[in-house]
Amino acid sequence: MVRENCGVVAAFSLSNENVIPLIIDCLRALQHRGQEAWGIAIPNKTPYKELGLVTESSNKFKEIIEKYRSNAAIGHVRYSTIGKSNLDNAQPLKVSDLCIAHNGTIANVEELANMVGGCTFTPQNMNDTLLAAKKIVKLLNEKNDMNNALKILKNDIIGSFSFTFVTDENKIFAARDPKGFRPLVLGYHKETETFVVASESCAFLSIGAQLIRDVKPGELLKIDESGLDSQQFANEKHAHCAFEYTYFAHPTSIMEGINIYIARKSIGRALAKKFPIKADVVIPVPDSARPAALGYAQELGLEFEEGLLKDRYSKKGKLRSFIEPYQKDREEIARWIIPIKEVINNKHVVVVDDSIVRGTSSIAIINAIRHAGAKRISMIVSYPAIRFPCYAGIDFPSREELIASNVEDINGIDKAVAEVIKADFVGYNDPDTLANAIGLPRDELCFTCSTGDYTNLGLIERPIFKSRREVKGE
Ligand code: SF4
Repeated sequence: MVRENCGVVAAFSLSNENVIPLIIDCLRALQHRGQEAWGIAIPNKTPYKELGLVTESSNKFKEIIEKYRSNAAIGHVRYSTIGKSNLDNAQPLKVSDLCIAHNGTIANVEELANMVGGCTFTPQNMNDTLLAAKKIVKLLNEKNDMNNALKILKNDIIGSFSFTFVTDENKIFAARDPKGFRPLVLGYHKETETFVVASESCAFLSIGAQLIRDVKPGELLKIDESGLDSQQFANEKHAHCAFEYTYFAHPTSIMEGINIYIARKSIGRALAKKFPIKADVVIPVPDSARPAALGYAQELGLEFEEGLLKDRYSKKGKLRSFIEPYQKDREEIARWIIPIKEVINNKHVVVVDDSIVRGTSSIAIINAIRHAGAKRISMIVSYPAIRFPCYAGIDFPSREELIASNVEDINGIDKAVAEVIKADFVGYNDPDTLANAIGLPRDELCFTCSTGDYTNLGLIERPIFKSRREVKGE
């Protein structure tokens, strides 16, 4: 099964300008959402795909821009967790006359494969996006209407999606799942009269486009030569991913009207009220936790320092440890976070991190700070304890890998995790405090990975899906 948390983009120029340069720049701005592969698609051509970072292909940009010249295009950056990092799994994918790019996870792929029919997927080659595309094409043949197709598709799938599509008839579509798990925003690039849809608004900043608004959960946008059209294929209670606000999204992005950097700083301030520690210095785990650490220090009037630095020139330094697919790579990246002894030595250090998933990095970081001479280490965590897998687009593949999932007494999680990572104190955020600090109603945010309440996904009980190890046959 291929599960992804990726970045998508779509662009349509009403004045017939070539949108490929805009697509490439947007994909570069969305690179933090996926670094394994990228691709673009235009009408009536096989999608262009490459492995690695977008900038690694910069010597081919000129050729790509000319060869794929089009006023309508979509693009994708990919992060996979199980599927091999090969070009077959890279997106966009083409089925019949429809190209698709997907951010999210469709968890019930086996069920969907049966509905599509004629598929011979094995657990190793299952691709949720390909199945969704086949299903949509099937529904389009029956209904001849994308909105009606999505009305049916939403009932057949468990999971999340932000889709962008381009058709051979030169139309762009963009759709966000009814709960709005994954982000999707609409913008406009004035110079080229181009409507742009992207996973995050940081993509618009990179091309000088204006953010118009979020694509609404359950909304379908169609953009063609007659302009922009909007339809609603579902109206449900929202469940925006709270994890985007603490970890995944870019600090410059605006989601549901809230700037991510401001939200993270506000989360830090809220954590300072929840855990007012009289420390000598507050340091962030780079990079996502920096605004929260700053907010924490400012609220308590404590010294804020950069006590940990990433070695950006090492091979793994460009990657983020949580989205590295393999354990040895995560261990590798922890080695490249280097403490500054002069900031830490002989001090009570509060180290702020955005989350603790498997705990591998936390163990290495606490160890490094201890060796740099800290006399006491308190770890404050922006996101509540992650105890359950996510089936809505972020890779927490199996419960056994989550450090907090094995603690039976929920009230004892802070203490139990502190023992494992060898910190003197661990303070986790909680869903109410986090929602309040973000500025969204608690019941419009998803916290399933913390609470285990899977009703957001339409499930009464926690689904039993195959773990990554089971899928890989390990
Ligand atoms: S389960 Fe967690 S990571 Fe997944 S969508 Fe919900 S909040 Fe986000």
